[in-house]
Amino acid sequence: MIIHIDGIKENFTRQKDKQKAAIFAYISQNGPVARKDITTALHLRSTSVSMLVQELIDDGLVAEGQSLTRGRAGRPDIGLRIAEARLVAATIYVEGYKFIGSLVDMAGNILMQKSLKIPPQETNQTVLKKYKLMLGALKNAAPAKSECIGAGISAVGTIDEKNRTWVNADRWPKIKDLNVGIFENDIGIPIGLRRNLDIELEYMLEKKPECRTKSTILFHWGFGIGGAYAYQGKILDSPAGRYMDIGHTIVHSTSKKRCRCGLYGCLEAEAAIFGLLPLLQKRFPNLQEDSSDIDSILSDPQICTIPGINHAINTVGIFLSNLYKIFYPHRIFLVGPFARNPKVVKCLEKTIIKTFYAKLRDKVHHIDLITIPDGFSGCMWANAYPFFRKRLTELLAARV
Ligand SMILES: [Zn+2]
Repeated sequence: MIIHIDGIKENFTRQKDKQKAAIFAYISQNGPVARKDITTALHLRSTSVSMLVQELIDDGLVAEGQSLTRGRAGRPDIGLRIAEARLVAATIYVEGYKFIGSLVDMAGNILMQKSLKIPPQETNQTVLKKYKLMLGALKNAAPAKSECIGAGISAVGTIDEKNRTWVNADRWPKIKDLNVGIFENDIGIPIGLRRNLDIELEYMLEKKPECRTKSTILFHWGFGIGGAYAYQGKILDSPAGRYMDIGHTIVHSTSKKRCRCGLYGCLEAEAAIFGLLPLLQKRFPNLQEDSSDIDSILSDPQICTIPGINHAINTVGIFLSNLYKIFYPHRIFLVGPFARNPKVVKCLEKTIIKTFYAKLRDKVHHIDLITIPDGFSGCMWANAYPFFRKRLTELLAARV
């Protein structure tokens, strides 16, 4: 399943609702299963199981398959399985200079995927047109019996979630106060907008439920540098639309490197891909920020031999150490192309040991630094979570 049903079960107070959700979760994890297997595994009465399974079948969430006892005498046990594409949702997230659009179903299948290049000079009007085209194509790809329950969009920069407005992004300087909700009626499904980083962290918390305890930071180092923070599984944000704006904290006040925000010496200007491009181009003259091979170049341990790159790695290492001191989190997820380079990660760890652990006066818990190999692909799933949670909460409530 795309989400943990246990999270939905917690919303219910009635026993019947909890039982229906538990049956649905059991079928999704073990299907095809017979009714009597559910009765035994969940310690329920067979009449309750029959009745609640019938509701799931009537709602199209569960389908009956072939006999599980073919060839044997007696009444056959019919196999129950999840009707995979009964609920589907469209999602779009940002990766570099691209929008990646997907249509996903409740079982966690990708039914369609599209990618669109969004050059830096795009305007509100052209971006809206591309969103609309992409969402229209994704929705139209939904199988005939599916219900498309929403479209989740995530983007970089400043996001006003409440008003579904993309306020601005350094990567696309002409985008300003872009309201992605305005074509909701044309598309005919609800649309949500959130920050890429928050959504990526939400994906990690869903994928690793044990990380919903204590405090977690997601640190992204790639085209930009930024973070997200969760306390006890809840992602914190700010009404200002930005949170943990790590990339634009000034790390060298006398630096001559101008950041895309207009200031000098920001962490992004010193260490993000666009800031490092002049150094990288000395080794790879044709390399551009949006080159398709930039990921593999940054993942190659040889980049550490390019003069100036070690300075950037050291700057990020010191910044991480400062982050440890400010938050004392229990874990940090390190995401982005640099996190896929074991040599870079080793250098970061060395700096953290030297500037954090070795200088501590008090004993503190060990902070786990966990590297995540996928970029922002978790957004493909997590952008859809709110729609699945809402619709499944409605459908899994027992009717009796
Ligand atoms: Zn800046």
